Amino acid sequence: MLTIINIALPIPADRLFAYTAVDEPDASELIGRRALVPFGKRVLTGVIVGIGEESKEFKLKPVLEILDLKPVFSPAMLELTKWLSEYYFCSWGETLKAALPAGMSPKSILKVQLMNFPDESELNKIEKKSPKRAALINILKEQEGYITVNHLESLLKTGSVAYQLDALDQLGWLKIERMTDKPVAPKYQKAINVKTELLESQEKLKEILDELDKKAVRQSLLLSYACLKQMNEKKPILVSEAISHTKTSHQAVNALLEKRYIEIIDVEIDRNIDTKLTESLATRDESKLELNDEQNYALEQILSAIDKKEFQNFLLHGVTGSGKTLVYIHAILHAISLGKTALLLVPEISLTPQLIDRFAKVFHENIAVLHSRMSEGERYDAWRSINTGKAKIVIGARSAIFAPLKNTGLIIVDEEHEPSYKQEDPVPRYNARDVALIRGKIENAVVVLGSATPSLESMYNAHNGKYRLLDIKQRADGALLPKIEIVNIFDSKKKKSIVGNLSIELLQEIEKRLEKNEGIILFQNRRGFSSYLECPECAYIPMCKNCEVTLTYHKAKEQLRCHYCGYTIHASLACPSCSHSPMLEVGFGTQRIEDDLNEWFKGHDRKPVVARLDLDTTSGKDAHRKILQDFASGKTDILVGTQMVAKGLDFERVTLVGVVNADLQMFHPDFRASERTYQLLTQVAGRAGRSSDKTGEVIIQTKHPDNPALIASVSHSYDMFYSDEIQNRKEALYPPFVRFVLIEFSGKDINKVNRSSENFAKLLPSKTPYVIV
Ligand code: ADP
Ligand code: ZN
Repeated sequence: MLTIINIALPIPADRLFAYTAVDEPDASELIGRRALVPFGKRVLTGVIVGIGEESKEFKLKPVLEILDLKPVFSPAMLELTKWLSEYYFCSWGETLKAALPAGMSPKSILKVQLMNFPDESELNKIEKKSPKRAALINILKEQEGYITVNHLESLLKTGSVAYQLDALDQLGWLKIERMTDKPVAPKYQKAINVKTELLESQEKLKEILDELDKKAVRQSLLLSYACLKQMNEKKPILVSEAISHTKTSHQAVNALLEKRYIEIIDVEIDRNIDTKLTESLATRDESKLELNDEQNYALEQILSAIDKKEFQNFLLHGVTGSGKTLVYIHAILHAISLGKTALLLVPEISLTPQLIDRFAKVFHENIAVLHSRMSEGERYDAWRSINTGKAKIVIGARSAIFAPLKNTGLIIVDEEHEPSYKQEDPVPRYNARDVALIRGKIENAVVVLGSATPSLESMYNAHNGKYRLLDIKQRADGALLPKIEIVNIFDSKKKKSIVGNLSIELLQEIEKRLEKNEGIILFQNRRGFSSYLECPECAYIPMCKNCEVTLTYHKAKEQLRCHYCGYTIHASLACPSCSHSPMLEVGFGTQRIEDDLNEWFKGHDRKPVVARLDLDTTSGKDAHRKILQDFASGKTDILVGTQMVAKGLDFERVTLVGVVNADLQMFHPDFRASERTYQLLTQVAGRAGRSSDKTGEVIIQTKHPDNPALIASVSHSYDMFYSDEIQNRKEALYPPFVRFVLIEFSGKDINKVNRSSENFAKLLPSKTPYVIV
């Protein structure tokens, strides 16, 4: 009997595809497994999502192969991915593909070879009828042997050549070979398995070792080590490990093998468990700490929700250093004690080695970590350890929302306000924070969104009763929030009390900390921000009159343009506010901070040791960890960095944080610029003074000290920020009062793109104020 199955394929099509499969004992067991199927000229890996209806109308193709013995998607994950594809407008198959670790699906490779070579006149004829086909033939002619279709398409600089290939195939001119390249697979290594009789009988073992000692000391050494290890760890020892530990050789292994004292077997290796030689960045098992009252109250609410085993969500608003992590730890411990699993999402940028170490100190190897810097193999191993139930806790960046945990009891989204939870490209485009809530709903799990600076949307939801709000207003363990001071660098420049980018005030504070060997963090925004103009006289910055965002400066055309509505003006020479001319482009040299420090400390005896923490300096495997370790231990005095220093770092010795230029965030052309400013300043300031015996200080440099978001941050007042900003959003019609939809058209032919987008625009309802074409 053949079963008809419906398959979701990873192509941008809003439908499923039917194939036939040889009947399993129970057809429904096919659901959630992957299948290799022919699709036109390609072979695709799809996911079986349903059993189809009997139909005599079409002749369906059979699947080539069912790839999995067991489903890789649970019913819950199928439901989640289906919801996601409908909500965010992308195909279910593409979503499913994104939910699996890359490299797990075999890629289809199609190779073709031209068998019949047309002569000159024949080719001319073809050229007239179909230039594309002639071009294709010409390329194929030059090839010796097979060429892959992908390569062919890139040579021809066109999209699909499937139709042309079909035509040539029907003429019998082509030889087509279909193959797939190998996906990642579990990694195996050779291991020594000592014969059971030696493990069980001490006498027998001793006898053999005595014998070996006489003629083959190395073999004796190796055998006794392997025996001991295997008895202790109850598993075979890796050949490589045994050899390196005993300083013996493969010859010794082979000799023991020949004597049948041991056998060599393959064991599966988890690529993520590296032999960690580096020190942990966590100094203690935090689960042993006693919770304070506010933590306790928040925790109790979460625990009783977990006990109910139904969907419930919380917004945990705790100031920086309030010990949200400890609340997470206890909530996770509780979920695990009930036999549930737990998922902790963190922004990519705060997936610092320190955070992982803090959790590892409590949960040991029960954790699987997922993030973008892992190799395909590492990801696959982590995925498997989750799928098999070995890892009960997952910590990961946004795509970990698809982690194949079963029986999920708790989902935590830390720093829920972070923009990096949004995947913008490629499909599926989604916000993992929002998907987390849906996953919680589907799996009857408790969802906790945590932040010191909740997004406006989330706080709005909490005020409307959609989320339950939990507050922690005090720092844990009696530490105080840092003192924040503003330095107006517009004045500093006029008074010439500035060295490069660093004001004298900031430099003098740095000196004081150096004397006490305390840690200093200097924060400078990431590069790649779009530029704007500023008046050097009065610090005026041109804004869009419609959208209240900064106008972006386009040098080539001497224009100022709004990236939202397209409003464009000539980049005028004089400042509209004070008539000073010319306005200046604001530049963002980032690596200059180090130079500025060197300049200031030139004549000093005590010169600071400076380290940079950004994407460039952390690309090596353990570079990030090393930089943080040196800073934690005091080898480094000053850590200069981008957003990477702003989040998640918990070092007692940091007493001074300097924000080199807060304006870069304020005048980013984005309606969320104020919100981001408040969040970033609060987060980065929160790195200072995290222990009760050292107070922290923060210096923020700006030319706009009257900015409301800045003032709210300096006053440690989320409420001030919220009430001000929610009013702005309401008046300017921005989220959460409206929803934005971005519909993007792209193509290789500008006319076609224009036509299609215009046609589409005509279909939009014209009588609403929200659509401006
Ligand atoms: P957050 O994530 O809210 O910014 P953390 O969880 O990093 O704060 O906590 C800040 C510091 O306070 C950490 O070093 C943590 O171990 C410590 N801490 C948290 N709760 C307590 C507590 N109840 N008693 C003592 N120290 C605590
Ligand atoms: Zn505008």
